[in-house]
Amino acid sequence: MAMQIQTGTSELRDITKMERIGAHSHIRGLGLDDRLEPRGNAQGMVGQAKARKSAGVIVKMVQEGRIAGRAVLFAGPPSTGKTAIALGMAQTLGPDVPFTMIAASEVFSLSMSKTEALTQAFRRSIGVRIKEETELIEGEVVEIQIDRSLTGATKTGKLTIKTTDMETIYDLGNKMIDALSKEKILAGDVVAIDKTSGKITKLGRSFARSRDYDAMGADTKFVQCPEGEIQKRKEVVHTVSLHEIDVINSRTQGFLALFAGDTGEIKPELRNQINTKVAEWREEGKAEIIPGVLFIDEIHMLDIECFSFLNRALENELSPLVIMASNRGMARIRGTKYRSPHGLPVDLLDRVLIVSTKSYVEEDIAQIIQIRCQEEDVVLTADAQSVLTQMALETTLRYALNLISCAQVVARKRKATDVDVEDLRKAYKYFMDEKRSVQWLKEQQGSLVFEEIGAAVEEDV
Ligand code: ATP
Repeated sequence: MAMQIQTGTSELRDITKMERIGAHSHIRGLGLDDRLEPRGNAQGMVGQAKARKSAGVIVKMVQEGRIAGRAVLFAGPPSTGKTAIALGMAQTLGPDVPFTMIAASEVFSLSMSKTEALTQAFRRSIGVRIKEETELIEGEVVEIQIDRSLTGATKTGKLTIKTTDMETIYDLGNKMIDALSKEKILAGDVVAIDKTSGKITKLGRSFARSRDYDAMGADTKFVQCPEGEIQKRKEVVHTVSLHEIDVINSRTQGFLALFAGDTGEIKPELRNQINTKVAEWREEGKAEIIPGVLFIDEIHMLDIECFSFLNRALENELSPLVIMASNRGMARIRGTKYRSPHGLPVDLLDRVLIVSTKSYVEEDIAQIIQIRCQEEDVVLTADAQSVLTQMALETTLRYALNLISCAQVVARKRKATDVDVEDLRKAYKYFMDEKRSVQWLKEQQGSLVFEEIGAAVEEDV
């Protein structure tokens, strides 16, 4: 059946990228240098050098398109930066590489099967970069990029024109080409570019004979200036995910379902048709596949059926890089009676690259606290900083980070601008950390509504 596949690209542009705020908003990358060495405190990242370096290697693999069938597991104690590092990877990959983040528990929903939820997550993590040729419309903002081959290796130009007049657009574009090149070079001209100096020599409007080329030496590059730059047609490139194409083309759902987030199940036949169509676009040079990253947090919450699905899905040619995170040691594999490292079946464990994260030392914690204070616009006195670092060492990093904003509210109540030890102490009293909470529960035995779970029952959970 011939089918018109829609990409809905223009409408989608605004909703595909979401700003991330909150606990990890200070993370802007992995903070690595060109040789993938971690820099002390860079891009919001501190410590955890080995894991960051491993993450950098994985990012390189993604960029080189060598990720099919790969999976990575970040394993380590709570609040040791597993999620933060995954987000750092997303930032390094840039906005064009799809990055999907789910918690394994999201897969269990009444409105769709577990495998459908996972399939959707997989397809959300595969980008399709679509090239479309569109006519210029009067009044549109136009960006003209001058081809590097026109202007030599060092010069390149970009121009944004805001005008409703078509003639002005073409005129300004041509003026820009003139300004960038030493000679007036027009589309269709043949030019020689010296590869070292970038000097451009205009040769005429047709290719010279090959011996003329030889005479100019190997350091010269010959280019026929493309007609493309300033034409009535412009090429627009959008990146959408395979999942978005699925939803837009699903008869029962349609484009609006993307806003509602309620996409329901998508028929396998439709996905097959879309895969075929995208493969055609690739062959025609109209589209490019960008495999992205799927991050599944709390991976031990998946069950044996999901793990078996993952094993198979990773073998698909269109598989994203799957990054899993777990803070469990030996744990029961859900849906079985077996225990396994991180709650993952051995066959899946066997194919993942495991990156471990370790508890932070005092110095790292102090720096992370400082970064978060800057991010949240909170000033701690020097004493408060060291007290909060000690609190983090005795409780957890996450608890200490949570106290920052609570203590600020307390400080504001006494009309102070800086947060001092006393404010932290109050916040510490108001909110319990995990250890104190357990202790308190023990003391309250009998007065709370609870039932003790025996070992036998636990196996069925
Ligand atoms: P869990 O196992 O409980 O999910 P996690 O290992 O995923 O924990 P995160 O949520 O990444 O831990 O870290 C806790 C907090 O500390 C977050 O706010 C995170 O941004 C911050 N953080 C963790 N590691 C670093 C780091 N190396 N540099 C800067 N901030 C960090």
